[in-house]
Formats: sequence, C-alpha cells, structure tokens
Amino acid sequence: NTFAEIDLGEALNQNIRRCKYVKPTPVQRHAIPISLSGKDLMACAQTGSGKTAAFCFPIISGIMTGQFAQRPRGARTVYPLALILSPTRELSCQIHDEARKFSYQTGVKVVVAYGGAPINQQLRELERGVDILVATPGRLVDLLERARVSLQMIRYLALDEADRMLDMGFEPQIRKIVEQMDMPPPGVRQTMLFSATFPKEIQRLASDFLSSYIFLAV
Ligand code: AMP
Repeated sequence: NTFAEIDLGEALNQNIRRCKYVKPTPVQRHAIPISLSGKDLMACAQTGSGKTAAFCFPIISGIMTGQFAQRPRGARTVYPLALILSPTRELSCQIHDEARKFSYQTGVKVVVAYGGAPINQQLRELERGVDILVATPGRLVDLLERARVSLQMIRYLALDEADRMLDMGFEPQIRKIVEQMDMPPPGVRQTMLFSATFPKEIQRLASDFLSSYIFLAV
C-alpha cells in the first residue's frame, strides 16, 4: 500500500516522495480514492491523521488534469478553482505550507488569506493569481465583499475542522460563502467535509453542502 499505487500523476507523486511520505495514513488510503472518483465526502478525522494531504492530493490532481473554463484575467477580482476553509490563521498557514510543497512545479498556485493581519499583502498575493485559496471564513467574507475574490468558478471545496469552525461561531460566514458558489448542476462542485466529531450541527452542514456523499470514519 503506497502512494504510487494511487493514480495521482507523476508530478504529484514526485512531490509526495520529496515530502518523505511513503505509506498513506488510514484517512488518506480511504479518502483519496473516494475523492478522485468524484464523490463528495464527509470524513471524521482527528488532527495528526494526515487529513491535510487527504484533501490536498485530490484537489491538486483534479486541477492538474481537469478542463476548466477560461478565467477572467487582468481584473481586480480573482477566480480560484478550489477553496479550503479552516478555522484559524495557524491552521490555514500550515495547510498553505503543505499544499505548496505538494504543488511544487505543477503550475498550481496556492494562496492563503486569514484575519488578524493586514489585508494588503494578501491582496497583492491574490493579484498574482490563485488556483487554490486557503482561507479563514471571516477574512474570506471580507474579500468577497470587496469583490477581490469570486467563488463562481470553485470546483473543489474542502472544509477542515468543521466542528471547530462552528464552535468558533463561523456558521453564518460559512453559509454565506457556500451560497456565493455558482449553482452548478449536481456533481460539478465537489465538496469534502472534515470534522473530528459528528454532532447534529455537522450532520446538517453535510446534508446542506454535500450531494450523495460517502461517510468515512477512521
Ligand atoms: P495532518 O493530520 O494533515 O496535520 O498531518 C499530520 C502530520 O503527519 C504532518 O506533519 C504531515 O506532514 C504528516 N503526514 C501526513 N501524511 C503522512 C504520510 N502518509 N506519511 C508520513 N507523514 C505524513
């Protein structure tokens, strides 16, 4: 059981080897093939389980191999193809660091935006182009209100530590964010919901945001 056996493409496999990942963790072994098959996923996974790679690999692989409509260029608004929402600045930066290592030399651009820091540097980064946006909910709402980010071309959505985001009171922001995504025919936007626990509130998010999803508990 190795990453080479999963069809992630040579560039991504090379980066995985560079990161010294040899054997997939249990959540990776199950979640990656489900996501590569195009299905939505609700995964119960703890910190340290390897969930970051579990949602990053299918997103990077999908962006590298997918066909996407031409995105408007030159305007102030940027159109990421993937959005990874996480509760805190610290976690967003960690995800950004990992996602960048995994997308090394693939042409896939990853940008992070979080609150509690000046927005200007983040705006400059966004202007240079973004395929995968890693963001905290509050800062993303700010960027949407400034029309600096559009979610109309999002094809991959990952919510990390969803239970923690709800505990922190981010549900209104999360709903506002998901509402702004294009309403494509079912199946066009692929969604991955990761949470350490699975209470009623998370079940409700799952039924609102996911379409005929697979439930994974490892
Ligand atoms: P995460 O749960 O995504 O925060 O990952 C926890 C830690 O395990 C991070 O330092 C990862 O770089 C590392 N890690 C994740 N997957 C693997 C793997 N398949 N092999 C070795 N290390 C891994």
